[in-house]
Amino acid sequence: MLKYKNIILFGPQGSGKGTQADILAEKFGMPHISTGEIFRQEIKEHTEIGKMAEQIINAGSLMPDDVTNEIVAKRLKKEATQEGFILEGYPRNINQAKALDSVIGIDLALEVWISDDEAVMRIGGRRTCPKCGAIYHLKFKPPRQDRVCDVDSEELVIRDDDKEEAVRKRLADYHEQTEPLIDFYKEKNIYKRINGMPPISEVTESIMEVVEG
Ligand code: AMP
Repeated sequence: MLKYKNIILFGPQGSGKGTQADILAEKFGMPHISTGEIFRQEIKEHTEIGKMAEQIINAGSLMPDDVTNEIVAKRLKKEATQEGFILEGYPRNINQAKALDSVIGIDLALEVWISDDEAVMRIGGRRTCPKCGAIYHLKFKPPRQDRVCDVDSEELVIRDDDKEEAVRKRLADYHEQTEPLIDFYKEKNIYKRINGMPPISEVTESIMEVVEG
């Protein structure tokens, strides 16, 4: 049984929050709403928002608050959220948190913490196939043959937004813009933090200890 209904999950790039949100959503049969995923879908469908998102995401920046707030408000109305939801990657700043507050109440704001060096190591080790989009990791999911895609033998590349400089910039943005959410949700008594440094299954266990009652 879940102790909380409306949950937000936040953490820096590489914290595994997307993976953990997927696991939670599946286990409890609730919708996983990820703004990053919504924007990636818009890019695939070549919509107006998608065209904007492609440029912004490639530049390692954030989408404008008004566009993001509207997309989330629409999605929350459309999805079956009566039994709760997991919102991941949103809000990313105080402005968005206030906008969300005006749409729906949140019961738990859970931060998945990792150190900056761990984030750089996790993201920096990522390699992508420029042809089919398959993603590998030098340490956690190496390709069968060194630096070559298992599927089509293309030489793997480091995506621009996975390069160390881009990752450090996003981490700085996270500290500056997203971490103030900690105090925002502490004041509402709904903030909790778990350690995202251990392997995925251990992080899932820590999350379950928080959310299961
Ligand atoms: P993510 O998969 O959560 O890392 O999101 C991928 C990208 O989508 C981010 O780097 C941002 O450019 C954009 N994005 C996702 N969520 C938000 C948000 N809440 N506010 C602004 N931009 C976002």
